Amino acid sequence: MAYERSLYQMVENEYEELRRHNQEDLEARRRAVYIAVPKIEVIDKEIQSAGLSIVSLAVANPLDMQAKITALRDRQKMLQIRRKALLLENGFAEDELSLRYMCEHCQDTGVRGDKSCECYKRRLVMKAFEKSNLSQQLRSQSFKTFDWSLYSQECDPRYGISPFAAMQNIVEISKNFINDFERTDKNLLFWGESGLGKTFLSTCIAKELIKKGYSVIYETTYQIVSLLEDYKFKRSPDLSELKMQTERLYESDLLILDDLGAEFSTAYTNAALFDILNSRLITNKKTIINTNLSMQELSDRYSERVISRIMGSYQALQFIGEDLRIKTSVNHFQQK
Ligand SMILES: [Zn+2]
Repeated sequence: MAYERSLYQMVENEYEELRRHNQEDLEARRRAVYIAVPKIEVIDKEIQSAGLSIVSLAVANPLDMQAKITALRDRQKMLQIRRKALLLENGFAEDELSLRYMCEHCQDTGVRGDKSCECYKRRLVMKAFEKSNLSQQLRSQSFKTFDWSLYSQECDPRYGISPFAAMQNIVEISKNFINDFERTDKNLLFWGESGLGKTFLSTCIAKELIKKGYSVIYETTYQIVSLLEDYKFKRSPDLSELKMQTERLYESDLLILDDLGAEFSTAYTNAALFDILNSRLITNKKTIINTNLSMQELSDRYSERVISRIMGSYQALQFIGEDLRIKTSVNHFQQK
C-alpha cells in the first residue's frame, strides 16, 4: 500500500530543505573559522589549487604526470593534517569544516543504495500522521498503553457481560479489522456513552494503519460539517485547499468520523455527510464512526432509511462501563 503522491513530494521537499540548511550551516561555520584562524583559509585555498592542478595535469597528460600528481596528492594530505591540527588547537571540532547530516547513513538524501533510507520511511509516517489530523496527544496512544484496569470485571446485569469482557471483545475485533483491512468489507460503529474509550480505540486503529502505509483521516463530525458548509458556500480564501480537504473525506483509505450526533446539522449537511458515507461504502473504503447516541437516537436524528443503510454494512459495537475520564481523574487525585 502506498501513501498519496503529495505526501512523498512533501517529504522530498523536506530533504531538499534539510540539505540547503546543512550547506548554509557549513558556510556559517567556515566564515567563523576563517575569521578566528586566517591561516586555515590560506591552507584551504592551497588544497583547492592543488586539486585544480591535478585535474589539469590529468587532462594535459604529460609524461611525468603520475609523479607530479602523486606529489600534489601528498601535499594535499599534508595540508589536511595541518588544517585539522589548527582546528583542534583553536578549539574547533575536527569536522568543523565538513557538512553535518541529520542522518549519516544517507547523508540527508533519503536514499541508501537503491533503497529508501530508514529515516525516509520514518519521515513519511510522520507526515502521514500530520495529515491524518490526529493530535499530538492522540498520536501517543496505542494498544500497548491501553489501561485495562479502568474496566470493571463485574458483570453488568443490564448487558449480561462485564465492561472488561465487552472491551476485550471490541479490542479483538479492532485488531482483526487492522489485520484484514485490505480484505474486509466491514466498517465499525463504536457507540455508547462518552468517556468509555471510543476515541482512544479508534485512534489506536488509525495509528496502526498509518504505520502500514494507509491514508487515514480523523475528523469530528462537527469539523466535517463545517468543512462541507464552507465548501458549499465557498467560505475560504483558498478554495482549492478546501476542495482537496473535501475530496480526502471520500478518498482516504480509512475515515474516522468522531462524535456523530454532536454536530449542528441541517438537511444539507445531513445529506452531504451521508453522501460521503454512502460513496465510501460503494468504493469499499473503510469508515469508523464513533457516537454517543443509541441506535434509536440515531434513527430519530437522521432518517430511518439512512440509518438502516449504515447499519447493514457496519458492525455496531457497544461500549459499556463508567466514564473513564472521571475514573482516571479520581485515580490521579488519589495518587497525589
Ligand atoms: Zn537516512
